[in-house]
Amino acid sequence: MFRDRGIEIKTREQILSMRAAGLVVGRTLELLRGEVKAGISTGELDAIAEDHIRSSGAVPSFKGYHGFTGSICASVNAEIVHGIPGERVLADGDLISIDCGAIVDGWHGDAAITVGVGEVGADLLELARICEESMWRGFAAAKLGGRLTDISAAVEAYVRANSSYGIVEDFVGHGIGSAMHQPPNVPNFGRPGRGPKLVEGMALAVEPMLTLGKQENHTLEDDWTVVTDDGRSAAHTEHTFTLTPKGPWILTALDGGEAKLAELGIACGALAD
Ligand code: MG
Ligand code: MG
Repeated sequence: MFRDRGIEIKTREQILSMRAAGLVVGRTLELLRGEVKAGISTGELDAIAEDHIRSSGAVPSFKGYHGFTGSICASVNAEIVHGIPGERVLADGDLISIDCGAIVDGWHGDAAITVGVGEVGADLLELARICEESMWRGFAAAKLGGRLTDISAAVEAYVRANSSYGIVEDFVGHGIGSAMHQPPNVPNFGRPGRGPKLVEGMALAVEPMLTLGKQENHTLEDDWTVVTDDGRSAAHTEHTFTLTPKGPWILTALDGGEAKLAELGIACGALAD
């Protein structure tokens, strides 16, 4: 069912299918987190991801998406998002963001992690930590009956209060469900209290992208890889979530977000199977 502004409202059963897709994505990313090390290529990580997604009975949603060749995006250092996996070999001190999507029974999950390779500078680890934490502040701010930009404002407020990092404005989170990218856009900045009302059955991907320097960016000649203009490093974290009467349910987190939400004093909205 589509509401006004093209927002897809999922049934309980459809949300449970999205949870199945989310778990495949979450498990794939945890598998990759353990494989990230100096000497492995982004193409090898991609092969591990594709194999794991398919052997889980899911379909890698990135592969073939507008001609994209990978099952993950692998974005290293100054690459913000949409890096194409290939021959690049990771080196000690790199910072890699891995974005992954999977489809189960026609329903999508989409998430991303940023991981340090070997001995990583404290500045890069802090960038990754603030990026992930800002995303969780976004979930914590999402309430049934609230507004979409409550999430955006919470992400921005956390970043601004704890850093002078750039918040990438050209790329945003999104609605997700029977397609990977749906309305509405979910910006990582802005004033609260605006945009569509948050209702049950909505599913959104929240994905802050932060830069050590300025947020201005451009796309390389491969037509995909987005890099910072100033060449400084970037981080990207993402989860897909929905709202139930109990609270937010993080569909791509293995524990549904329970532990992290509890730290923030928020109940997890997980539905029973
Ligand atoms: Mg993604
Ligand atoms: Mg996304």
